[in-house]
Amino acid sequence: TRTAATQDGDPVLQLRNVTKRFGDAAAVSGLDLTVRDGELLTLLGPSGCGKTTTLRMIAGLEAPSEGTIRVGGTAVADNGGFTQPEDRDVGLVFQEFALFPHLSVAENISFGLEASNPERVQSLLDLVGLSEYGDRSPSDLSGGERQRVALARSLAPEPDVLLLDEPFSNLDVRLRVEMREEVRRILKETGVTAVSVTHDQEEAMSISDRVAVMYDGQLEQVDTPERVFQQPRSRFVASFLGHASFVSGRVDGDIVETGLGSIARRNVDGLATEYDGSKVDIMLRPDDVVARPADISEANGKAVHRRFLGPTVLYRVELDSGDTVGCMHNHDAEIPLNEPIRVDLDVAHDLAWFPSGSNRTPDAE
Ligand code: ATP
Repeated sequence: TRTAATQDGDPVLQLRNVTKRFGDAAAVSGLDLTVRDGELLTLLGPSGCGKTTTLRMIAGLEAPSEGTIRVGGTAVADNGGFTQPEDRDVGLVFQEFALFPHLSVAENISFGLEASNPERVQSLLDLVGLSEYGDRSPSDLSGGERQRVALARSLAPEPDVLLLDEPFSNLDVRLRVEMREEVRRILKETGVTAVSVTHDQEEAMSISDRVAVMYDGQLEQVDTPERVFQQPRSRFVASFLGHASFVSGRVDGDIVETGLGSIARRNVDGLATEYDGSKVDIMLRPDDVVARPADISEANGKAVHRRFLGPTVLYRVELDSGDTVGCMHNHDAEIPLNEPIRVDLDVAHDLAWFPSGSNRTPDAE
């Protein structure tokens, strides 16, 4: 077993200035990415942003047009040099799991091993929670069990890097949530370095050590799940990771005046004194905002729309200042529509912000 990923673990996978063009169109442009030993990194982005192309280049199923890819310190693709997929220490789990139907579960797992090794196969079966399933046929397994076998098979040759392409997309919603936990546990137990691909932000945040958000062939931000969610460096990341609203404010010394009252400048992430007097937009998640019925003297807005989400209700609130914010509430605290309400901030973390009229935080420009 290897040690858990740390910020300064050895780089196991490195992409330097990687570009992939199909004809005139760049699917991936100038990508720089380092994945460290034992880390689980997820490429997250909307359809067509280039995440699958990136994964395929790491696997060796596509050659980059430019740039260098290193796996375990060895260049597998750079100017002119190209290592075939089967000669890279890279494992791949496809979304359809692609098990051999005529082989047993144990035979599927031992397929990638150079020599027969029943103990290794059994320890992988134990690892993925299928100790008694070696003799079964893949057709007699549930979707979740097939995924466990696919994972065990990819892990069998001990790859330096394991790639997972939309690994949960063929599972139903309930199983998907259960398998996220399982896949993370299994990857962490083996200590393998892994890169997965998804367009589902909740999945990315729940399984990953770090999330690499892609848009239009480029990396927007690579950070921990907490930071991409709470400290997005671009408005695209802010909105892709979850519901985001923006209240306009004006920096006045140590406070920011907004339609939701004043916010201490020190509670706004990295908002330096040089912005004194500037207009900024403060990002809010729906659970940063609380509302309650109020009489006209203390009211500062009204709820104009209510969307039932099951455990919570999402309100769209128009503030008297002109901004619109999303506000999450549980059922007990039902907010009347189109009546005066009092809206306040309830935030335990630093707030993200953007200069008015800019799509990026200043350090991300
Ligand atoms: P999805 O989530 O829909 O799979 P993605 O983020 O994985 O999307 P890619 O499949 O990497 O996106 O595609 C990125 C861009 O490159 C798209 O515009 C796509 O049409 C284009 N592209 C991908 N593969 C090829 C190819 N073989 N030939 C031409 N264009 C391609």
